[in-house]
Parts: sequence; structure tokens; C-alpha cells
Amino acid sequence: MSSIEVDWTRCDAHGLCSRLLPEVITLDEWGYPVIDGSDLDRDLVRAARKTAMACPALALRVERRP
Ligand code: SF4
Repeated sequence: MSSIEVDWTRCDAHGLCSRLLPEVITLDEWGYPVIDGSDLDRDLVRAARKTAMACPALALRVERRP
């Protein structure tokens, strides 16, 4: 199982992540990401990794859960 985690000490509410991965990430009223915590399938893991690399603040990580 894999999920996206946000490093809140880095996130600057750019909002890019929700545009790149709208299936999983929406924004709250201040522009911070709200992550759908459900398990990512293989295609979404790939897309999530690309989104993490695109984050200007490098605030996203794709992690494997036990
Ligand atoms: S793109 Fe990165 S910095 Fe911007 S809202 Fe998403 S996680 Fe935060």
C-alpha cells in the first residue's frame, strides 16, 4: 500500500499538487493540500511520484505503508 504524505514544515500552499493530481489532492480554503488517504493504485503511485518531484517546496513524499 502507498500513500502521499505532506511535510507541513515545507509546504507553502502553492497549490500545484492539486492541479497535477486532482484524483487524490484537493485544497483547503487557504490553499493547503487535503490528501485522500486511500491506497494508491500503481498508476496513481507513478503520478504521485511525478507530482512530488514537481512540488516547488519538495514537500510531498510517496510512502509505502505496511
Ligand atoms: S505543490 Fe507542494 S508546496 Fe504547493 S500546496 Fe502542494 S505540497 Fe504544498
